[in-house]
Amino acid sequence: MMQGFAAVYGHPRSPQRPLRNGAHLPNSLGRYVAAMLTVQLPDGSSRPFETAVTCREVAEAIGPGLAKAAIAAEIDGVQRDLTYELPATGEVKLRFLTKRDAEALAIMRHSCAHVMAQAVMRLYKDVQLAFGPTTSTGFYYDMLLPQPLTEDDFPKIEAEMKAIVKEDLAFERMDKPRAESLQLCEELGQRFKVEHVETGLGEEAELSFYRQGEFIDLCRGVHIPSTSHIGKAFKLLNVAGAYWKGDASRDQLQRLYATAFFDKAELDAHLKQVEEAKKRDHRVLGKQLELFTIDNKVGSGLILWLPKGAVIRQTLEAMIREELRSRGYEVVYTPHVGRVELYETSGHFPYYRESQFPVLCEHNAGQLVDILVERLKAGEITDDEEAKLLDAARLLGFDGEVDPKKPPAERAAALDVWAHKHERYLLKPMNCPHHIMIYKSKPRSYRDLPVRLAEFGTVYRYEQSGELGGMTRVRGFTQDDAHLFCTPEQVADEFRACLEMTQAVLKSLGMNNYRVRLGFRDPDSSKYVGNEELWDRAESELRSVCESMDLPGLSIEPGEAAFYGPKADFVVTDCIGREWQLGTVQLDYNLPSEGRFALEYIGADNKPHRPVMIHRAPLGSLERFVGVIIEHFAGAFPLWLAPVQARVLTVSEKSEEYGREVEAKLRAAGLRVEGDYRGSKLGAKIREGQLELVPYLVVVGEQDRDNGTVALRDRIEGDLGSCSLADAIARLTEEVDDKRVRQVAEAPAADLSAKAVGNEY
Ligand SMILES: [Zn+2]
Ligand SMILES: [Zn+2]
Repeated sequence: MMQGFAAVYGHPRSPQRPLRNGAHLPNSLGRYVAAMLTVQLPDGSSRPFETAVTCREVAEAIGPGLAKAAIAAEIDGVQRDLTYELPATGEVKLRFLTKRDAEALAIMRHSCAHVMAQAVMRLYKDVQLAFGPTTSTGFYYDMLLPQPLTEDDFPKIEAEMKAIVKEDLAFERMDKPRAESLQLCEELGQRFKVEHVETGLGEEAELSFYRQGEFIDLCRGVHIPSTSHIGKAFKLLNVAGAYWKGDASRDQLQRLYATAFFDKAELDAHLKQVEEAKKRDHRVLGKQLELFTIDNKVGSGLILWLPKGAVIRQTLEAMIREELRSRGYEVVYTPHVGRVELYETSGHFPYYRESQFPVLCEHNAGQLVDILVERLKAGEITDDEEAKLLDAARLLGFDGEVDPKKPPAERAAALDVWAHKHERYLLKPMNCPHHIMIYKSKPRSYRDLPVRLAEFGTVYRYEQSGELGGMTRVRGFTQDDAHLFCTPEQVADEFRACLEMTQAVLKSLGMNNYRVRLGFRDPDSSKYVGNEELWDRAESELRSVCESMDLPGLSIEPGEAAFYGPKADFVVTDCIGREWQLGTVQLDYNLPSEGRFALEYIGADNKPHRPVMIHRAPLGSLERFVGVIIEHFAGAFPLWLAPVQARVLTVSEKSEEYGREVEAKLRAAGLRVEGDYRGSKLGAKIREGQLELVPYLVVVGEQDRDNGTVALRDRIEGDLGSCSLADAIARLTEEVDDKRVRQVAEAPAADLSAKAVGNEY
């Protein structure tokens, strides 16, 4: 949370104050000069109040209709409960939130999460509550229960929630100082809340709780006035495992996912979309359509591309290669490993150590020494442990000098000296350092710039196994990567060209629904390398390029930058409404700098200058991108991408010879084609082709041989009737050459993996 606790909360007072003058209207003669508080309303009008009032009292003063419809309020841009008491003097801007406001839905959903937790606690014993935030499409609550919950429990929980809604329990806010808050959590027997107050919220002087009926929860708020405002349109969706604070070494909790809407029709539409998302799951389709597989014997998170999936990848790569050729890139190849020293220079090591595969050491004792250095630096080792590890290292041939009387930092440094005498490698986590060394392989002049080096570069990251799933979270992936080295004067044009290339690539795939997010640094964080001046310059250049291009949905988001520079990310909405961050273009004033690779070119003045680097990947990772488009197209790829573009079907065995002739001609025209000449019924062969989502079925009978014709069946439009083979070939090749995307309808949808947002502490 960016905003401090005190900024979000005001000073709580009793909401139960009688309304005194709320019904008075302002008077053009200024008669009520005694008014102490002026409330500005969104319609431009304002109302004076002489005594302290709550938000609800203001609503009542405006009209009973509003008082009934209001769910919460927004005061000077900050959300508040209706029971919140306004300051007694001054001027505030007040807006009431009703069902019609997007913010109200999140408030209702979070209130529904409290009701869900209450229902579970009424039905089951010994429930420990963790976090229960809203997501972009619903909400969840993490809890620890002695028994596992399954979908069979859902009807019972939903029925209890309905009862709570019917009881119309008011949500009552209670603000308490730290010590009392802790005491209350202890009295409630909620150990996760106790821990969170002690550690996670250690800085807060005052905390808030919400009560409805017998249920009390530590909560930032805000909430709806009472449970009846939830209505009937809510549903439990599924239950999954989650760790307390995301830490795999802590308690494993049950995460109960649910959603709620103000309107039953909206809930139904949403549930349909959830079903649609399940049907499109790339892990399921990838198996059915034989696109990729993952085998534990190879390793989790490591993708094996099957022949049909490889066709899709190759076709995407060919499209990118054509872009590279026409845009003046040079293609390079680099190995999958690099020496640790290379990444020490780039800053990827030890910065990314946690997310990398372990270091590969030439010397047997290398790993042990590596561990020793790490622990010594972190102060996480006893003298006894150190001695034992050192003995073990000596047993494996370690022959360095370490003086036990020296301080730990010096002992670590001595071990480090030894480590650097032996070769140590990393599976490469990034391609940049390798491309930088290619840039450095010869002197460069300003006349050579920009140098644009491209590679489908495979990189490795050690994701936690709990985070792995299909192609979208993997441990090895290939980026359509490139690094551009240019003069400061060329930055704007090169950055623009990279953004344009990304736009062109997305357009080829019919993915025209995207927004561009500019990630800038968080001014309060210290994780960024490089000096202020370079960052300011990079950020302002990027901003002006993006603004001049009229990019859709351009936003600037502090804290989203890479550690080496600001970036522009393409966030694509797929055809069921989910957002994916795909292409990226990143500016980098850091890696070329003196403290890193000290890159140079000779300028027109014959003096050395420092180039600027741009990292860019229009698709991002091929694995992730293909995973996303499998779901986007629901496996029905546009013709130019489809692994099999056409299948020849014979009406009977008599037309096999002509069928094979047609197949050969389609193939000669550059199409990916196969034939089904089995004796089975034509109807069955057509159904099979449709199930396998083959874009065109080319049906041939005996008459067709005499006439040189075929009957075409299109996946989308159905039977197209008979035409000459030449016309059929022309139709298909044109559709491929134009990269035409003819596709399923668009619908907004569900994302169960959505990041938690909103009301939770
Ligand atoms: Zn809450
Ligand atoms: Zn890079």
